Amino acid sequence: MADDAFSLAGKLALVTGGGTGIGLGISKALIEAGARVVITGRREAVLQEAVGELGQHAGYLVFDVTNTTAIPELIGEINQKYGEVDILVNNAGIHLKKFSKDTTDEEFAGILQTNLLSVFSLTRECARKMMDRKDGSIIFIGSMAGIFGIDRVAAYGTSKAALTGLMNNLVTEYSPFNVRVNTIAPGWIESPMFLNAINADPARKEKIINRISMPGFGTPEDIGNATVFLCSKAARYITGVVLPVDGGAVVNF
Ligand code: NDP
Repeated sequence: MADDAFSLAGKLALVTGGGTGIGLGISKALIEAGARVVITGRREAVLQEAVGELGQHAGYLVFDVTNTTAIPELIGEINQKYGEVDILVNNAGIHLKKFSKDTTDEEFAGILQTNLLSVFSLTRECARKMMDRKDGSIIFIGSMAGIFGIDRVAAYGTSKAALTGLMNNLVTEYSPFNVRVNTIAPGWIESPMFLNAINADPARKEKIINRISMPGFGTPEDIGNATVFLCSKAARYITGVVLPVDGGAVVNF
């Protein structure tokens, strides 16, 4: 296949939570593939530093994805400043490690708000315009916790599993308009979120290491490369998949 099937030249991508970890890795990979990228997050200093690293093809907007009523305004601002969004990467997410018996309704709802409800709102606003233009690619960032059960992450795992249900249903509506929706399920990837969780729990770390087939943890770049592929013409006939990028963890006994 010609190299340019993987090119994202001329595309504009919105990457939520693009200032750190996996989101930053995704943003770097998209830019390397030729796209321009707008990143969002709540901490301006983090975004500024990330844009400094990403270079001239990146911009940022401070935005809390849980502020769903302001999403149409956010998209309008992006359209005005940068153009139409061709690629949406719903990467922003929060984690909660707690036994379900100790998880409050507010905590459970808070995880769903960031990891699921905000994804729905952002996707809806971007997809409307993508469907008008008959072109677009939307990525959800799932998790191993959305594929199998892991103790003490009931709220988080539920939010990630629900993304698959959302994706399946959106695919039935968006496909006639050439808008694709795919999920990447990262395995254990070195990022601030992961390192915080893992360093406080050596027993969990050991269990994870034994679960992964390939040696070592994944990197944000691994997730970035998978994102480039799924958003490129090379994947034009791929929609509605959950792609594990996990060093073989899902299939390892
Ligand atoms: P990070 O904590 O580094 O990244 C999370 C990002 O989301 C931050 O940039 C954060 O920015 C942003 N964010 C969180 N809440 C909000 C909000 N309300 N509004 C806007 N931005 C927000 O962790 P990762 O890079 O690891 O996580 C990225 C995604 O990957 C998440 O969806 C996570 O669930 C998923 N994932 C990670 C795995 C791993 O091993 N690392 C494994 C499986 C899935 P700020 O705080 O400035 O708002």
